[in-house]
Amino acid sequence: MSTSAHSPAEPMTSTAAAVHEGGQVTDRLVELNAGYAENFRDPGMDARPVLQVAVVACMDARLDLHAALGLELGDCHTIRNAGGVVTEDVIRSLTISQRALGTRSVVLIHHTNCGLESLTEDFRQDLEREVGQRPAWAVEAYTDADQDVRQSMQRVRTSPFLLHTDDVRGFVFDVTTGLLREIHSVS
Ligand SMILES: [Zn+2]
Repeated sequence: MSTSAHSPAEPMTSTAAAVHEGGQVTDRLVELNAGYAENFRDPGMDARPVLQVAVVACMDARLDLHAALGLELGDCHTIRNAGGVVTEDVIRSLTISQRALGTRSVVLIHHTNCGLESLTEDFRQDLEREVGQRPAWAVEAYTDADQDVRQSMQRVRTSPFLLHTDDVRGFVFDVTTGLLREIHSVS
């Protein structure tokens, strides 16, 4: 993997600059954590999210969920993967979130210009050819983010494991404007 994707026009953070100069990224993160912990005060919360909401979103680096949704520490569960796709493992997390930790609402967030839009299920075949084994998981590639949000909402609403499926809403986040656009189910 190339590390030169950073555009020189963008101002670098001190972390990016340190890594660019040949440092190891994880060492830098651990160093920054020591600074974080110095000012950290135990908020005294339990594990139940204050807002009783679970957010399922793409892992995309341009999506700062807490900033974009005005969330504070302790407010929500955050479940992220490539695409923000509702997989079996996301259902597992949502089930634990609702049944053991008291959440009631689900927010699904895909975004514009997602890396998954450049992939197809050929990715699995290519992997199989390369390593001699086909992954058990689907790539879940999509070309229409709106439609994939609708499918994700449907997967959550029809899961037999969840206690609360009446407040499930889906959005596409625009990575150029920072705005969420709500996607409505086809009824
Ligand atoms: Zn994405």
